[in-house]
Amino acid sequence: MKEGRLNLKPSEEEKAESRRSFFKALGISALLLGGLSRKSDASLFKSPVGRNRLRPPGAVSEEIFAGKCIRCGRCAEVCPYRCVYMLDIRWGVWAGTPLIFVDENPCYLCMKCVEVCPTGTLMKIKQTETRMGLAVINKRYCVTWLEQALCRSCYNACPFKDVAIKLERLKPVVVDDKCVGCGLCVHACPMNPKAINVEPIYSFTRVKWK
Ligand code: SF4
Ligand code: SF4
Ligand code: SF4
Repeated sequence: MKEGRLNLKPSEEEKAESRRSFFKALGISALLLGGLSRKSDASLFKSPVGRNRLRPPGAVSEEIFAGKCIRCGRCAEVCPYRCVYMLDIRWGVWAGTPLIFVDENPCYLCMKCVEVCPTGTLMKIKQTETRMGLAVINKRYCVTWLEQALCRSCYNACPFKDVAIKLERLKPVVVDDKCVGCGLCVHACPMNPKAINVEPIYSFTRVKWK
């Protein structure tokens, strides 16, 4: 009996050690899974808006976009230029929301989408009030700035020529507070990688339209 008790003690210690190992392993797994889940959560919730990936005109801030947009697809349907792409399920919580890839198919500012949006996710703004983003010239890639050629494609494509893009000593310069971010200049730029890109600088701030 005494021996039995003596034999029992190491066995309890073993059990305790085994429990410790089990919980330690569980803790490590939980940490790993937690890390993985945080990673996938991050990509799942990360806004799809980025360089040359923009919301249509009049879009509310990205902070509230997914909650306000009812994924009806009317903006895409009405767009005569077929530039509005409805995101598919690979985009997580953003699936069904509209995005424009301006390097492939820019916005021609017809303003039809803002007229049909039933929820105000695209606010009814004027063409000149549009702020989809801001065009930025990369002078290291622009052949005109590099003085290798006299390209004017971005300037010629801009619907607000001499207002949103000007030529200064024959070189293109974007006027920050006039550029609407339509991306017509990006689409027209012949360089690869593009020497002009639209950055979504207004997408995460509340733009005052009036
Ligand atoms: S403004 Fe016109 S061209 Fe631009 S996304 Fe809306 S419907 Fe399409
Ligand atoms: S510079 Fe002109 S073409 Fe380029 S995004 Fe701005 S308004 Fe559009
Ligand atoms: S279209 Fe591109 S390469 Fe041509 S001037 Fe504009 S930014 Fe430079």
